[in-house]
Amino acid sequence: MTFGKTHDIAELTTELIGKQVVLGGWIEDIRKLGKMTFITLRDVSGISQIIVKGELNDNLGEINRQSVVSIKGIVQETKARDFAFEVKAEEIEVLAKAIHPLPVDPIGRVESNIDTRLNHRALDMRNQKTASIFKLRHHVLQSLRKTFVEKKFIEITTPKIIGSASEGGADLFSLDYFGEKAYLAQSPQLYKEQMTIGLERVFEISNFYRAENSHTGRHLTEFTSIDIEAAFMDYTDVMDILESVIIEVYKFVSENCKKEQEAIEHTIEVPTAPFERITYKQCIEELKQAGEKVEFGEDLLDSHLRIIGKNHPGFFFLMDWPMKLKPFYIREKDEDATLSRSFDLQFGYLELSSGGTRLHDSELLKARLKEQGLDPAQFTDHLKTFDWGMPPHSGWGLGLDRLMTILVGIDNVREVVLYPRDPDRLRP
Ligand code: ATP
Ligand code: MN
Repeated sequence: MTFGKTHDIAELTTELIGKQVVLGGWIEDIRKLGKMTFITLRDVSGISQIIVKGELNDNLGEINRQSVVSIKGIVQETKARDFAFEVKAEEIEVLAKAIHPLPVDPIGRVESNIDTRLNHRALDMRNQKTASIFKLRHHVLQSLRKTFVEKKFIEITTPKIIGSASEGGADLFSLDYFGEKAYLAQSPQLYKEQMTIGLERVFEISNFYRAENSHTGRHLTEFTSIDIEAAFMDYTDVMDILESVIIEVYKFVSENCKKEQEAIEHTIEVPTAPFERITYKQCIEELKQAGEKVEFGEDLLDSHLRIIGKNHPGFFFLMDWPMKLKPFYIREKDEDATLSRSFDLQFGYLELSSGGTRLHDSELLKARLKEQGLDPAQFTDHLKTFDWGMPPHSGWGLGLDRLMTILVGIDNVREVVLYPRDPDRLRP
């Protein structure tokens, strides 16, 4: 059994012509033409044409498409239009056969619906459209980490198993923790705030959990959140950071992922900065003008956001929400205490991120908890850290999966998550 290979297909160069290589990959296509067989071999980096002749061809036997093979051969020039080189095979070893027919066609000649593809996700990954989405996601993560490090943020990992229902309690999954009730974290909110005490600027990229019974293209029960929290910053400062993080992601993938953009048939265009900034008050006015019955202080419904999204296509910030619509840790505006130092980043109707300036005074926090019907006693572990020199701080959480849908131009988060979890999907 051959395990190794000398090159990935994309590494074949003119200097290798006449030289022997060992390739490893999957049979994407195989065409027998009597004395000759043409194989299209795919590995993670690309496709190559393999020519099989003579005795090797006579003894080739049946090889199903998508079987994994090791091929030793000589690199040569090709007349084929679709390939830069071809390899004349000297040895072919079938490492593992693929069944026929396969449950989904990875070439995408026969389109499968999303449920069928998700049920066979590993095989779906040989579809270049799917693989490209996840290569793009990899590059997005790389760009995010690069930008955060440049801006002097420190990467942290907060616990996902928590002992109390941190932010109010709805939507939490609970579990048995050696006889005690525990929960899956719905966000790193309290921990990331605490970390500003010693690390000042922190970021986290992790999965979080929400037991919301939503059946939409933008909600999952397990999603990846990109979070930051920064000491000595106001909400407008972290809005600037969010804007540049997004612009950098677009620049990075539009430059580094040309092949992937071709495969998904979608060109990634860098949005123009600065993003428009509109207030909640302005939104209410726009909605009234559109004939909606909505009053200041009411939360914006999906139908409202669809109208606002039509008026403001693309990225924009929706800021200065009423205090009463915001969680207990959000700080008010100095000039109007009914308004908060908060924002959402929208892409049209779609919310991508929420953030704001936090309260950093424990007495004010306690009062706000009570106002919202929460018990400060449940927050002792958190509140005590505010007596140890808590700096003023601001932050945001950005949904990676939602950002990916915008980037690749597909409006279902299930397409950009490997094994999505929703109320109807726990397996595979
Ligand atoms: P929504 O109102 O759209 O349900 P939210 O306001 O409850 O979102 P936040 O608590 O503000 O969400 O979380 C910050 C970000 O995390 C959201 O803007 C979104 O991008 C992402 N997010 C939150 N919940 C989910 C989810 N269930 N699935 C995917 N992404 C999510
Ligand atoms: Mn939100």
